[in-house]
Amino acid sequence: MARITLDHIRHAYGPNPKSEADYALREVDHEWNDGGAYALLGPSGCGKTTLLNIISGLLHPSHGRILFDGQDVTNLTTQARNIAQVFQFPVIYDTMTVYDNLAFPLRNRGVPEPEVDRRVRDMLEIIDLSGWAKRKAQRLTADQKQKISLGRGLVRNDVNAILFDEPLTVIDPQMKWVLRSQLKRLHKQFGFTMVYVTHDQTEALTFADKVVVMYDGQIVQIGTPAELFERPSHTFVGYFIGSPGMNVMPATLDGQTVSVGGETLSLDYAPKVAPSDKVELGIRPEFIRIGREGMPVSISRVDDIGRQKIVRASFAGQPIAIVAKEDAEIPAEARVTFDPAAISIYANSWRVGREG
Ligand code: ADP
Ligand code: MG
Repeated sequence: MARITLDHIRHAYGPNPKSEADYALREVDHEWNDGGAYALLGPSGCGKTTLLNIISGLLHPSHGRILFDGQDVTNLTTQARNIAQVFQFPVIYDTMTVYDNLAFPLRNRGVPEPEVDRRVRDMLEIIDLSGWAKRKAQRLTADQKQKISLGRGLVRNDVNAILFDEPLTVIDPQMKWVLRSQLKRLHKQFGFTMVYVTHDQTEALTFADKVVVMYDGQIVQIGTPAELFERPSHTFVGYFIGSPGMNVMPATLDGQTVSVGGETLSLDYAPKVAPSDKVELGIRPEFIRIGREGMPVSISRVDDIGRQKIVRASFAGQPIAIVAKEDAEIPAEARVTFDPAAISIYANSWRVGREG
């Protein structure tokens, strides 16, 4: 297992990149802990696969270095990096049996046959294919094949890291849940460094200790699910995490006073922003209280979603979402208050902390 250092990584697929827009990865400079379970979360095209392939060695970055436990591996092959990678679609040997597919990475490394047998049988249990061991892989369905791919990634216990690139895309929803729990259990048991790519926030938040949110070729935040929820570093994290996402409204600042449209609110600190910055106020729908007190809103619709209501309204000329309890009374002349501790101020889309 290894600590992974991404040392000023940039990547452009085309030759002679000129502007930032030519880079699929703009600048990634982070260290990931040994034994951590990381989810790489972001919309399609934001650079997740590019980053994963740079870590595994399938892709050589245009700039920067990759280190495993402090050792430069930038010019090493995937094999030499000792990485297991599971792709979005099955990569297996069709003409081999299910058993031999799983045994292959172990036999390849000279693991003694009794040990191979023990581990392959364990893995067959985990991926629920024990009854299929002697079948040729080509006869299997797409999701069974993908389970073999997962098994091949997980069967070795000597890897530096296991990388998953949206591995459950072809798996049906019920099995998805089962496999995700198995992955989590295996991670606890063996403690390997895991990087799991997904565009699904539920998958990321349930799987990982740390979620790495990517947007437009950059990592915009690395945090625990709670940190992403409570203090989104970038407005994108605010929108992307949560359902509905964070309310983000154009604002102006004057010391500790922030204004949205004609409404003003007092902060308990003075965010430092430059006069030319685009300033926005962010507040999650869960931290807006609706009732008879506070600032006026005009409600456009209320959706009952079981234990909560989602209220859509217009506040100071801006559309907002509010999450209210299922038994909350919503008056006709409704007013709202914002929990001051839950307000974030953004300058050019980045959160301005208390420290400035
Ligand atoms: P994700 O996995 O988040 O969907 P990718 O890393 O696959 O994103 O892609 C990031 C960007 O790089 C996209 O704009 C994509 O079109 C581009 N890209 C990916 N692979 C290649 C390639 N082989 N050649 C050129 N451009 C590519
Ligand atoms: Mg991808």
